[in-house]
Amino acid sequence: MVAAANEKQLLVGGEWIETGDWLDVRSPYSGEVVGRVAKAGAGEARSAIDAAERAMREPLPAHKRAEILVRVAGALGRRHEEAARLISDEAGKPLKAARVEAARAMSTYTFAAVEARKLAGEMVPMDAAQAGEGKLAFTLRRPIGVVGAISPFNFPLNLVAHKIAPALAAGCAVVLKPASQTPLSALLLAELEEEAGLPPGWLNVLVGPASEIGDVLVEDDRVKLITFTGSSGVGWKLKERAPKKRVNLELGNATPLIVAADADVSTAAKKVSQNAFAFAGQSCISIQRVYVERGAYDEFVQQLVPLVEALKVGDPADEDTDVGPVIDEGARTRILEWIKASSGQVLTGGELEDELIRPTVIANPGRRDEVSCEEVFGPVCTVTAVDSIDEAIALANSTRYGLQAGIFTSSLDNALRAAQELDFGGVTVNEAPTFRSDQMPYGGVKDSGNTREGPHYAVREMTEERLVVVDLP
Ligand code: NAP
Repeated sequence: MVAAANEKQLLVGGEWIETGDWLDVRSPYSGEVVGRVAKAGAGEARSAIDAAERAMREPLPAHKRAEILVRVAGALGRRHEEAARLISDEAGKPLKAARVEAARAMSTYTFAAVEARKLAGEMVPMDAAQAGEGKLAFTLRRPIGVVGAISPFNFPLNLVAHKIAPALAAGCAVVLKPASQTPLSALLLAELEEEAGLPPGWLNVLVGPASEIGDVLVEDDRVKLITFTGSSGVGWKLKERAPKKRVNLELGNATPLIVAADADVSTAAKKVSQNAFAFAGQSCISIQRVYVERGAYDEFVQQLVPLVEALKVGDPADEDTDVGPVIDEGARTRILEWIKASSGQVLTGGELEDELIRPTVIANPGRRDEVSCEEVFGPVCTVTAVDSIDEAIALANSTRYGLQAGIFTSSLDNALRAAQELDFGGVTVNEAPTFRSDQMPYGGVKDSGNTREGPHYAVREMTEERLVVVDLP
């Protein structure tokens, strides 16, 4: 029986609306319905864009935008446990990881509030050129216009926050389409923004068929920027179809980590056990490929395998569960097929435990195996022995992805070489490449994307620079 509290309407132009058509939200663990949401189509998407465009005709001053963002951060603090349980229910995320996500969303709103207050252009040194003598010039940062936001299932609260909080800081109204499998956390944020005083039309939330809503966002010229987080295939197609819009892409990765022979092997093994399998590997920067210099390989594997076997697999609602389900049956089947197809040696895992994929470590897979070159997005990591740091860097760079990568080493030379030569948006040294703090510039190169998120950087993307030149008397 669905709890009335989790029966959610859509938010369009400040009205919570029903469409007569409902979408069930199911727990990826038990299959039970945990909520249901009114389903939108192209008509609601057009109304939402109308509402967003109307809202922006009356700009909200920066101090009001900042106050709303601060109030939402406060509400997230007060309702932290409720938000964490919602994430856990709809995404199947273990409760302890869901609590971290809920706390991070609060941090994202707090940073966005700071950005709203300090949003400003800059002075241009006009007399630096002869032509500029006698002129004063500065830039204004203007909101780009209506933002279309599309978010994935795996961080249903904080990755929505990373779009809608900077958009408000920038002074842009938003039409948001969260993932159909996990829309409840996004709708909670919409409620919190409304309670915090957000006027009608500034945030509109549509849940429904991706291609139908996506088409409206792509085709409507009033949507000036689409911010998309999700898989590479979908993201790059969206960009191709919207050449006149800014289309900001945060996409997948097949995250590599290098362990040098001189590394602190115990720390590296511990970090891999914690960061390759959390949320069943369904983070875009979950460690997937570990390249270990031969001198440290045996010790690393001996330390890693028992740590992985000690992880608790089970119900995400249990306080001590480390690894829960993957999002759906399709993902589970694909991941098991990729494990089976690999020519490497399965050191642990590789099969199901109570219908859940056990954390899996594969030694020395083939270079063309899917687990070596595609994004697994499951509880699987590979360990490969390499002869040198050169070889490790070449292998780390050998996929089409470039989001984050890491190295464990005690040598400054190795660390600085990795920082220079790993072709990724971010490189961590003696920290898992899964590390993210919400103010960081976060994003990828190559097929992993074309932008940086983190409120400071997202606000920059969501504003246009306007030059003002004044002739001095
Ligand atoms: P996905 O299947 O690409 O879906 C992402 C979003 O796009 C969902 O809201 C989805 O809607 C929507 N969508 C799908 N087809 C669309 C279309 N034709 N037009 C417009 N929208 C469309 O990705 P996912 O499985 O949810 O998320 C996993 C992926 O996201 C992984 O590749 C992961 O690495 C990546 N990710 C990247 C980052 C980052 O910051 N770089 C962070 C998290 C995740 P429906 O749900 O309705 O299908």
